[in-house]
Amino acid sequence: MTLVARKQLPLRPAGPDTVDALLAWYDAERRDLPWRAKGRRKQDPYRVWLSEIMLQQTTVKAVIPYYEKFVARWPKVSELAAAPLDDVLAMWAGLGYYSRARNLHACAVAVAARPDGQFPRTEAELLELPGIGPYTAAAIAAIAFGHPATPVDGNIERVVSRLFAVTHPLPGAKREIKRLAATLTPAKRAGDHAQAMMDLGATVCTPKRPSCLMCPLQQDCHAHARGIAETLPRKGAKAERPVRYGTAFLVLREDGAVLLRKRPAAGLLGGMLEVPSTEWADIVMPADMAMAGAPVRTDWWSVPGGIVHIFTHFRLELQVVRAIVPVETVLTFWAEPDRCVWVPRRDLHKAALPSVMRKIIAHALKEQ
Ligand code: SF4
Repeated sequence: MTLVARKQLPLRPAGPDTVDALLAWYDAERRDLPWRAKGRRKQDPYRVWLSEIMLQQTTVKAVIPYYEKFVARWPKVSELAAAPLDDVLAMWAGLGYYSRARNLHACAVAVAARPDGQFPRTEAELLELPGIGPYTAAAIAAIAFGHPATPVDGNIERVVSRLFAVTHPLPGAKREIKRLAATLTPAKRAGDHAQAMMDLGATVCTPKRPSCLMCPLQQDCHAHARGIAETLPRKGAKAERPVRYGTAFLVLREDGAVLLRKRPAAGLLGGMLEVPSTEWADIVMPADMAMAGAPVRTDWWSVPGGIVHIFTHFRLELQVVRAIVPVETVLTFWAEPDRCVWVPRRDLHKAALPSVMRKIIAHALKEQ
């Protein structure tokens, strides 16, 4: 990025001049991201949609390798639609928020089933597809089809709240921020405008220490003029995250296979593989009660330490126990044998295992 300090000019209300300044900045400084069309080429709606779904709750840096793997394997939406869901979940493993992967597949199937096999072009039609909410519908409509839609993600929320000095805290201020953001959406180049706002939020108008002196919108920014930029957007007090506890059972067979179980399709980590465990409860279960739910009857070794994983709505603390068992071992009723599979250790890297399960396995096997 070219860093040029700007002169102090009189404050003006954010409006068409703001948009022009932002687009000029974007033309010079836009981030080179793999899902963005180069030069004057048209944006591919499939790639816009895929990247937007992946970017929900996830950083650009984490998304890029996943995005590249997906488009290399399934270059078109019809190919993703034809893929088995388990393959999509396995490819998604590690990216988190697994309902996104199930909805991604369901959405690809719905698009492929349309008469033209293409994504619809309007926000209203996009909103009817699985996994597409108001933000994603607006982002696809603007970026892929140039409609004057106004997506508001965390970056845009921050830029707008500062530009207009919205001091009312989130989440109550969301509606007002969206209304103000829409006043800036241009009739032409709406997609570039949305991406420019995202880029500005990611690289200049950052949560801490925004680079106001380098910002193309400094002249229009009320928060900067009032010296309160870094305090915005304000947030209401957060409820403390509850803690859940459990015991995970890592069973290693003598031939090197690890016992895994498929989680139910609906709910947290739905359809992914897991290391069998007790229920994740609000209290620490007594050891004998926890061990009564073990998937095999054998001698267990308690792995020192434990693992902690932060989900959006709770913190999970797990004790891990490990056992090595003969090949002919019979699973207990509690293991729910119908949902269990033995996966060779060498194949674990390609299994549909979410990060928390990989953490458990790494912890259980580290002192072997
Ligand atoms: Fe953000 Fe500062 Fe630019 Fe205002 S002047 S939009 S606070 S970077």
